[in-house]
Amino acid sequence: NRRIVLASRPEGRPTRENLRVEEADVPEPGEGQVLLRVQYLSLDPYMRGRMSAARSYAPPVELGAVMVGGTVAQVIRSRHPDYKEGDVVLSYSGWQTHAVAKGDGLRKLDPSAAPVSTALGVLGMPGFTAYSGLFTIGRPQPGETVVVAAASGPVGATVGQLARLKGARAVGIAGGPDKCAYVRDELGFDAVVDHRAPDFAARLKEACPKGVDVYFENVGGAVWDAVFPRLNPFARVPVCGLIAQYNATGPFEGPDRLPIVMRDVLSKSLTLRGFIQTEFHSQLPDFYREMGAWIREGRVRYREDIVNGLDNAPEAFIGLLEGRNFGKLVVRVDEA
Ligand code: NDP
Repeated sequence: NRRIVLASRPEGRPTRENLRVEEADVPEPGEGQVLLRVQYLSLDPYMRGRMSAARSYAPPVELGAVMVGGTVAQVIRSRHPDYKEGDVVLSYSGWQTHAVAKGDGLRKLDPSAAPVSTALGVLGMPGFTAYSGLFTIGRPQPGETVVVAAASGPVGATVGQLARLKGARAVGIAGGPDKCAYVRDELGFDAVVDHRAPDFAARLKEACPKGVDVYFENVGGAVWDAVFPRLNPFARVPVCGLIAQYNATGPFEGPDRLPIVMRDVLSKSLTLRGFIQTEFHSQLPDFYREMGAWIREGRVRYREDIVNGLDNAPEAFIGLLEGRNFGKLVVRVDEA
């Protein structure tokens, strides 16, 4: 069993030294458990938070413990009546090649319905984050303008396409010309703006001539600064992620913006509402049904960035926090 453990806690940007590859015995499944061989490991921005000891909505990974993470895995031994050898399941096995799991925590996947790796992306946690956050908090109406950043990633790409399904205008923000072209030409967003462009704020204003009714916040930082003045009265802001500040160390730069933000929250009747997708878990059956149909019908598209080999997970994860991924970042763990 090859596995990657947290060796030390990062200061700012994670480094290779923070993560260590180890070999261990393949565990034995107990009664009611299954032994899994991991096929795909999901790499997600929230893992940066788990590497830190700071208080958050979930406890940190202990030093020396296997890094956590969603996985798609194959059952190779079963001591649970509902699972047999060969079944493919969604599990939470972390950064390792093998794991034992209790049967109740697993979800069986149908490889003929969709590529199983999508259970970590558009048909999994990130897709559900987009679906639940946009529809429950953002509530886009026909003709409204919805802005989302990290627009080529699994959350942002899905947010924009779902906004368009509801008749809204989708404006994406992404880093660099390739991602921007993909968001506009392949995903069909109405407009896209490159946040690395020197005149980013002016271009965003041009792309939103009627202001912004829903801003799905994935990033914070300079992107927030550019979008905030464009918010219309009664705009809704699902606060989903703040990736621009996950590696931050000291106090934030620049003047204190809080008084101006609060003035507009009041005078424009804005709604800012943070969420963690798990709070909406009762919507999961609707999500699986609706999103499954939209994917089959080609109405929602997705892109995966597949990295080969568990040993390459640390570098790929470091890159995710800097925008080096292009699409849902997944590690193929059981490569031949
Ligand atoms: P992505 O695959 O989109 O990867 C992150 C992307 O963020 C990068 O590719 C990069 O895209 C962009 N980015 C990174 N740093 C910056 C920066 N400083 N300024 C602007 N953009 C930046 O990730 P996900 O789709 O998985 O996640 C998107 C967001 O959703 C994250 O903030 C994540 O934490 C959050 N999230 C929240 C959940 C919840 O329950 N609240 C659940 C799941 C995700 P680019 O090159 O285009 O800038």
